[in-house]
Amino acid sequence: MEIYVVIPPRPLDIYLYRCNSRFHVEPLLDMFKEKETYGILVMDNSGATFATLKGRHLEIVKSITSGISSKHRAGGQSARRFERLREAEINEYYKRVANYANQIFLGIPDLKGLIIGGPGPSKQYFVDGDYLHYTLKNKILAVVDTSYVDEQGVKEIVRRSSEILKDVRYVEEKNIIQQFLAEVGKDGLAVYGFDEVKKSLEAGNVKTLLLSEDLDLMLISVKCSNCGYSENLTMKPADLVKFEFDLSKRQCPKCGNQGLNIVDRKPLIDFFTELAEKLNVNVEMISSSHEEGEMLLNSFGGVAAILKYKG
Ligand SMILES: [Zn+2]
Repeated sequence: MEIYVVIPPRPLDIYLYRCNSRFHVEPLLDMFKEKETYGILVMDNSGATFATLKGRHLEIVKSITSGISSKHRAGGQSARRFERLREAEINEYYKRVANYANQIFLGIPDLKGLIIGGPGPSKQYFVDGDYLHYTLKNKILAVVDTSYVDEQGVKEIVRRSSEILKDVRYVEEKNIIQQFLAEVGKDGLAVYGFDEVKKSLEAGNVKTLLLSEDLDLMLISVKCSNCGYSENLTMKPADLVKFEFDLSKRQCPKCGNQGLNIVDRKPLIDFFTELAEKLNVNVEMISSSHEEGEMLLNSFGGVAAILKYKG
């Protein structure tokens, strides 16, 4: 028996007790995988909290209070003067929030996006105003309501993050499909269906490969054991048994003998993702829980590509 002591790169935030014939080190191994980091900022006119979420690990980086005086004005002060002072104070405070946000979030090289929350309308004024660095502004994924501006508010966002990010992903997916449809519409940089997409991939002409998550076709490779003739077909898994049965009685179109056999079968999704990975092509998996996704699946056979140049 050999014993290794490994210090994890981040604190372990789950408890796991298992009696088994092997060691369960998956949570440790997970830490070494590249995880996407999200920035979280919750704020209103009373204060702000900055946090990062990497995988399951949440870190509260900083909390500040605004120090802005309450809405009650001092006696003798005119209402207009009070409002002006308050606006100036808020402006200074927003600048301070933006400075911290820029310091904290711009320093994260693989920042995937920023989620901003808080009660009331101040977060939106802050986002719309000229405060945040433009690269951070471009990374804002969602602006959501929370009840608090402290750690509680951050945790509200984390609790809802899968739902928030799912909505964000929906919008991304819809945009990608709209982009594809626009290319189809002008007979431009788009192809779809097994043969066309495969051909374009192999020619190195695919910018983005679009695959429907619900594409349930199998890719079947048939080969003649007599003359070496081969062909690829796609079919539903349910049709496979009958196809295999019929194949044993079919004649080879090249040599005429009954030598056809299935030599390979795999889900079409796996075939395309493996090919794209090998060719280093960006793949977008599209769910069919929105109209655009259904269109990809039903009108374009579940597989499509946006091209680099007109092929
Ligand atoms: Zn043959």
